[in-house]
Amino acid sequence: MSDANLGISADLAGQVAMVTGASQGLGKACAIRLAGCGAHTVCVARNADKLAETVSEIQGQGGSAEAISCDVGSRDSVDAMFQKVEEQHQRLDIVVNNAGITRDTLLPRMGDEQWDDVIQTNLTSCFLFCRAASRIMMSARYGRIINMASVSGIRGNPGQTNYSASKAGMIGLTRSLARELGKRKVTVNAVAPGFIESDMTKALGDEALKMVRKQIPANRLGQADDVAATVVFLASPGASYINGQVITVDGGMTA
Ligand code: NAP
Repeated sequence: MSDANLGISADLAGQVAMVTGASQGLGKACAIRLAGCGAHTVCVARNADKLAETVSEIQGQGGSAEAISCDVGSRDSVDAMFQKVEEQHQRLDIVVNNAGITRDTLLPRMGDEQWDDVIQTNLTSCFLFCRAASRIMMSARYGRIINMASVSGIRGNPGQTNYSASKAGMIGLTRSLARELGKRKVTVNAVAPGFIESDMTKALGDEALKMVRKQIPANRLGQADDVAATVVFLASPGASYINGQVITVDGGMTA
């Protein structure tokens, strides 16, 4: 059971948030929570049907949201999407760069495509979204950028050299951009989840997950809401003095 529903909240009324990978898993939980705090939430992913489910769940709870189908690794799609959002809302307060994939295998066996896909979807997308968002946020002199990294990007993980490199890259990008934008009241932070229940971790299989659980002091995998609660906190006005940080959400696994 997650304790996250016990409650971090924030007043985000009037703000516009954008969450990538909002069609399922951690991104969906982040979108629902940000909308629950009053932000109009732009839900981004490729799967239009699943995005529609996220939006309808938010609206069913009295929140405001819209779906935009977009491949986050495609420059043209990302630029077109930002143009649309800016024209429609004239503001963007919060961006959560959460979309991500794994293509796990040991490095000697890794094909170029497995490397390129992961870097493009996880890291290049983060660059594209941060660049477009920072232009809007700098002139507004307010913004919150939250990048979904991973403990794999901090300590590495066998079979995940591509994924770990992409997440370590996101952490470096986060810290540097935080230094660039700090004066403009825009914060840039990363969240580094450990093992969280989702389709991504389900793919590891029961045996591997049993071993994983043994390494976690909390003795359970995290829930998407454990991560979403941290994202809401970092997105809140109250987190204005937290910048360039990597917040680990892993049940104590890396303590
Ligand atoms: P997930 O269930 O596999 O969801 C991934 C999301 O990313 C989906 O919404 C997917 O939507 C979207 N996505 C993937 N490729 C995309 C693309 N090219 N364009 C647009 N959207 C794309 O994964 P998750 O477990 O929720 O993980 C979310 C994030 O947390 C990832 O960045 C992951 O690396 C990170 N993370 C997860 C864990 C964990 O234990 N679960 C741990 C550490 C970090 P579509 O398929 O609809 O496009």
